[in-house]
Amino acid sequence: MILYTLICDKRHEFESWFPNSAAYDKQAKRGLVSCPLCGSAKVEKAIMSPRLARKDRSSAVAAPVEDAGQAPSPVAMMSPQEQEFRTKLKELRDHLTANADNVGKKFPEEARKMHYGDIEHRSIYGEATAQDAKALHEEGIEFHPLPMLPEERN
Ligand SMILES: [Zn+2]
Repeated sequence: MILYTLICDKRHEFESWFPNSAAYDKQAKRGLVSCPLCGSAKVEKAIMSPRLARKDRSSAVAAPVEDAGQAPSPVAMMSPQEQEFRTKLKELRDHLTANADNVGKKFPEEARKMHYGDIEHRSIYGEATAQDAKALHEEGIEFHPLPMLPEERN
């Protein structure tokens, strides 16, 4: 016996057992395999791989079925907590970047000037190497790492 995931021309997916693949081919050719939802006999085998993602409906973020026949799409499983965390992170980040000046690589320099009163205090963000960050901390200059979203790390 072989279990096939089948899909009709209205994109209903369903599963059906056949004695073997030849039996499926024969039955499908003669229009004997029909969709249990709409009765259409225009049925073909669905790509098997999306079944893995469909197993866990509670937290799956899977590629749309339409893409299943093409190249593999990236898929991810995210818990609701993870999604909420990412949303918060993005909000915080958007808020920070909207209300602060991007000083780029000049961040350590600008932060120092502010700390020592050379320039007026304002919100800034930018880049600091691990070495810069350590030095700034040692000088008592307070700053926070800008939250990064995982997909921006590459
Ligand atoms: Zn159907």
